[in-house]
Amino acid sequence: MTASDIASQAAVFLADTHEVENVAHELADYNPYLADVALTEAVSREGAAQEHEALAAFGRLVGRAEHIELGAAANRCPPELDTHDRFGRRVDLVRFHPAYHALMRTSIEHGLHASPWIAPGPGAHVARAARCYLHTQVEAGHGCPITMTFAAVPTLRATPALAQAWEPKVTARSYDPRNVPDAAKTAVTIGMAMTEKQGGSDVRANTTRAHPVGGGGPGAAYELVGHKYFVSAPMSDAFLVLAQAPGGLSCFLLPRWRPDGAKNPMQVIRLKRKMGNVSNASCETELRGALAWMVGEEGRGVRTIIEMVAMTRFDCIVGSAAGQRAAVAQALHHCSLRAAFGRVLSRQPLMANVLADLALEQEAALALAMRLARALDGRADAHEDLLVRLMTPVGKYWVCKRTPGLTYEAMECIGGSGVMEDGPFPRLFRESPVNAIWEGSGNIQCLDVLRAMHKSPAAVEALLWELAAAKGANADLDRAAGELRRELADPADLEHRARSLVDRIAVAFQASLLVRHAPPFVADAFCASRLAGAGPRNFGTLPRGVDCAAIVERATPRS
Ligand SMILES: Cc1cc2nc3c(=O)[nH]c(=O)nc-3n(C[C@H](O)[C@H](O)[C@H](O)COP(=O)(O)OP(=O)(O)OC[C@H]3O[C@@H](n4cnc5c(N)ncnc54)[C@H](O)[C@@H]3O)c2cc1C
Repeated sequence: MTASDIASQAAVFLADTHEVENVAHELADYNPYLADVALTEAVSREGAAQEHEALAAFGRLVGRAEHIELGAAANRCPPELDTHDRFGRRVDLVRFHPAYHALMRTSIEHGLHASPWIAPGPGAHVARAARCYLHTQVEAGHGCPITMTFAAVPTLRATPALAQAWEPKVTARSYDPRNVPDAAKTAVTIGMAMTEKQGGSDVRANTTRAHPVGGGGPGAAYELVGHKYFVSAPMSDAFLVLAQAPGGLSCFLLPRWRPDGAKNPMQVIRLKRKMGNVSNASCETELRGALAWMVGEEGRGVRTIIEMVAMTRFDCIVGSAAGQRAAVAQALHHCSLRAAFGRVLSRQPLMANVLADLALEQEAALALAMRLARALDGRADAHEDLLVRLMTPVGKYWVCKRTPGLTYEAMECIGGSGVMEDGPFPRLFRESPVNAIWEGSGNIQCLDVLRAMHKSPAAVEALLWELAAAKGANADLDRAAGELRRELADPADLEHRARSLVDRIAVAFQASLLVRHAPPFVADAFCASRLAGAGPRNFGTLPRGVDCAAIVERATPRS
């Protein structure tokens, strides 16, 4: 044998260590809309059946491997801030990875930032929510500017002259990320700046001052001086801002450029170093006499901006339901391909219990989000409007808060590779607490539920009516609804009890939706595990008799 024979033989031995087998493959090149039975059912049930084909086309687009990769790329390369150009001129420029821009373009061209305002009517919010749900599974961070742009419209409308000037560009279906004055653009995005160092929940403590340039009043110009401690999407073309006018806390529209083409002095101090939501830039700013126009009435700033906040809270519910779906789909997909101890994981009773439990939680989150979307479409009806008022903070509290625990459990289904940075779970996990914290943290949502109950007692009746619509179909739900009715009627220690009350409202409402609309093997399992009062529980503790295989089969995405 020659030396070169020996060398090539050795290379064969070295290269041939093992075959890669019993592993999953990417969940990609599939249609996350058509592969999601619960979603397709919800879309048609809640009034957007006419959008089925268009949603299927959107699902095809965002399920492609290249599109899914955009989500990973936009988070691998975080945005970077240039406060000044190389000559020393102030620019306040945030640079994003091209993948972020591609995601923004897709969302805006498909109307995720505005479609219900452009074409309102039955199913408009439902179809938009479905698109947001699908695209958030690809990437959550860029959803922040999309949501804020969408949510700004009802607040802008508080001052018709401002809405007339800005709404056409806010709702335009084209994406223009250039750092130039809004006058030079045909499409713009909007951000929001409320939070200051001394208080985010308690915005009445804001210290930013608004000085009238002329006579002042709704629609008039002011100059703002102060700081904002959290401002996401600082490349937005304008921001809805709270500041103290002479007549009290008021809402303003602050463009990034002045009408004369000069930079408005809303200066970016630094970008936040966030544990999640990495593709989205969030910053600290100082306002040094920044020009802004008053939106709504003087001294009614919270009342005015709350229209925007209500919409962002709705999107938090949709976004967290989507984050849950992304995590559960990965777990189901992996466990349908991976075997241990000679059997495919998803067919082993204990793992099937875990997967089915996760799928139930997720389907209930989706059902709540889509029912609320229908209520938004039907707000002209008093019942639907009351549901929006009560169930938005309930859903924001419950669905967002359930997401981190569910995401971790789904990660564990993958095993060790679930923890690795080259897979989707670290990003899903880091994203999972964000929706619960911004736009009013958990306790703030619970206090808002109490406020809604107090100011609009009819909202409680609307909830009870919804629960009654499912009466007689499930004994656990009937009993839980009766207990909840008694809890709601008890006025003692409400603030102390708020979290447990909101927990019960959320789960009873979800159960009623599943009992009315989902197959019995889903609805009964949800009620038996969530309402029968078994005490503390982890995922994977569904009671005996649950058809885990049917639940797993229903939820598993097929690529
Ligand atoms: C990634 C990210 C991006 C953000 N982007 C923006 C943005 O673009 N614009 C913007 O304006 N803000 C933004 N925020 C700020 C966010 O909205 C606030 O952080 C949030 O509202 C909480 O305010 P805070 O941080 O001051 O906490 P605090 O108000 O100090 O609250 C701390 C805790 O106390 C609880 N709490 C407060 N009051 C009560 C009470 N009365 N009873 C019981 N518990 C109470 C809260 O629930 C919370 O758990 C962003 C935050 C994050 C994390």
